[in-house]
Amino acid sequence: MGTRKIEALLAGGARVTVVAKEFSTAVEERAERGDLTVLRGAFHPDRMEGAELVFAATHDRALNRRVSAEARRRRIPVNVADSPEECTFLLPAVVRGEGFTAAISTGGNNPGAAKALREFIEDHREEISVRLERGRRRKRIEARQGKVYIVGAGPGDPDLLTVRALGLLRSADAVIHDYLVPAEILSLAPARTARICFARRGGTSRHGAVLKQNAIHEAMVRLAREGKSVVRLKSGDPLVFGRGGEEAEHLSREGIPFEIVPGITAAMGCAAAAAIPLTHRERSSSVTFVAGHETDEKGGSAVDWSLLPKDGTLAIYMGIGRVAAIAGELAGAGFSPDTPFAVVENGSRPEQRVVRGVLSDLSRIAAESGVRSPAVLFVGRSAEASPSEAPGETSEDAVAQGG
Ligand code: SAH
Repeated sequence: MGTRKIEALLAGGARVTVVAKEFSTAVEERAERGDLTVLRGAFHPDRMEGAELVFAATHDRALNRRVSAEARRRRIPVNVADSPEECTFLLPAVVRGEGFTAAISTGGNNPGAAKALREFIEDHREEISVRLERGRRRKRIEARQGKVYIVGAGPGDPDLLTVRALGLLRSADAVIHDYLVPAEILSLAPARTARICFARRGGTSRHGAVLKQNAIHEAMVRLAREGKSVVRLKSGDPLVFGRGGEEAEHLSREGIPFEIVPGITAAMGCAAAAAIPLTHRERSSSVTFVAGHETDEKGGSAVDWSLLPKDGTLAIYMGIGRVAAIAGELAGAGFSPDTPFAVVENGSRPEQRVVRGVLSDLSRIAAESGVRSPAVLFVGRSAEASPSEAPGETSEDAVAQGG
């Protein structure tokens, strides 16, 4: 039996019994030292009594086959050298190097390839170790330097966070978040995690200190330089009307490592919640994310509504504050008065509300229903109420009756 295998088993802490007619000196020596037990003589099935693994490694193939059959009859896992069909488990070739252990297996189908791979790894052992060490060093430097994760929190329902977002939140040293991110999501970060809130127009917040955009940039850089793992948590997706791009640019100018983690953007979260097919084979061949309101310097909206497709779905963000103006701009751009719309307020949250109608009634219905930010205004045929309306839906009539 291969001395290598015996040595590997002993190194792994196994209790080893070797059955053979004669033993190598190495095995004899090990036996004398009491490291293993030797049973001299011919194979007999009784000799595998109490074994948890059996290895057949004699030069006699017929004997190996017999050992395998007896082991299988006793339901003991068995490995036969160079005979995969007689094995119930296979052993990978193992190469150990400084800082790594590699196991190579071709499922017994290609011992030549396994051997070539083993030799290749053996020949490159040092190079592998150097690379591993380099990677570890880089990680250590990164850990000292801290990192900023620009993370999308989705539309509000914590179940709509990505697994990655959740993992990062749980290990964050600091969370810098938008006013739109609900407390339920913030509470997923450990109690020790610093929480810093950012509100667009200043003011105060129930979540703590309030920062403006350049103060956010400074906070991210400072915390990262302190070696912290900073989660910059943004509602929806960070790259959709979220200034994630500006923040990433700032971090890269400052040489701070960062990573962007996508989130479910409001249009997608709201569409799913209200069963609005953003695209539809008969009703909508495109979807456009539109800013209904931009910076005050741009004076409301910089959107050229006449350029937007009329055979698709518009998902208008930040538009509810100037919904009457938008209704007028859409009409002016040639959108038909009977184009359906749907407003989804607080999409995916417990207080979600959906209001529907057609464009000519948009400003009246918006005023009567009192829809407020955050809301996405969908315009297009796919906004039409379908027979399978989502639960919790408020139709125009219900709004009129309910006040
Ligand atoms: N980055 C975010 C958008 C931020 S801009 C995203 O990808 O979703 C803020 C606008 O997002 C709000 O004015 C509103 O139009 C929309 N919004 C965000 N969360 C919302 C929600 N839960 N329901 C409806 N609209 C939402």
